[in-house]
Amino acid sequence: RSQETLLEVNNIEVIYNHVILVLKGVSLKVPKGGITALLGGNGAGKTTTLKAISNLLHSERGEVTKGNITYRGDGIADLSPAALVEKGVIQVMEGRHCFEHLTVEENLMTGAYTRTDGKGAVDADLEMVYNYFPRLKTRRKSQAGYTSGGEQQMVAIGRAIMSRPETILLDEPSMGLAPQLVEEIFNIVKNLNENEGTTFLLAEQNTNVALRFAHYGYILESGRVVMDGPAADLRENPDVKEFYLGMS
Ligand code: ATP
Repeated sequence: RSQETLLEVNNIEVIYNHVILVLKGVSLKVPKGGITALLGGNGAGKTTTLKAISNLLHSERGEVTKGNITYRGDGIADLSPAALVEKGVIQVMEGRHCFEHLTVEENLMTGAYTRTDGKGAVDADLEMVYNYFPRLKTRRKSQAGYTSGGEQQMVAIGRAIMSRPETILLDEPSMGLAPQLVEEIFNIVKNLNENEGTTFLLAEQNTNVALRFAHYGYILESGRVVMDGPAADLRENPDVKEFYLGMS
């Protein structure tokens, strides 16, 4: 695996509503071709970190007040979500966010709106998405609002894939899903990473599953990275076992 760093977060602070300091100097690196996990409990700052990267804090009255974020060495602080997609980075937000009144297939096609490489290429990628998510192919004509939570999570990831991203930021893919579906989603992430070379930064409270699929992990507590290392090392770390893996 190459160790070229795609995304780099350098010592960022984030403040909400001008007063609440939520990230207190977070740094992390996302290598090309890797699956990097951002771990930690409720309110640790995982979502805030992802939103800082994709410049989505403004609507929540949040701002990065210190530090910087680069992608391939370029500052990305001022990029709109669309400009970030053009650079190769897309975020799949927590809670799935499908267009409920559109069909599964129409939802997937909305992910291709920035593309200029023609219908043939887009159709080929739609087939690729259906290959990774056979469930979505059978549900292609269903209204997204009537599909299950797991299927909606798949639609959200599939739609991201339709923009041909180099890097996907994935927020809590396991949220609200039964264990078997969580496993299914993470297996798809792994396959996309291995077969398409897609880079992932995923925020996840489910440390157990995340550390089985990720290559490297960062653990956040109260807005600080308290530990980081290769996933295999974190899985064996006594503190991680005690506090995050529910066994000692
Ligand atoms: P979760 O898994 O619950 O989403 P998280 O690790 O992603 O947790 P964040 O959502 O980043 O955590 O929240 C970090 C802290 O920032 C929490 O204390 C939260 O209450 C606070 N926070 C989040 N959004 C806002 C906001 N818009 N205004 C004020 N405080 C906020």
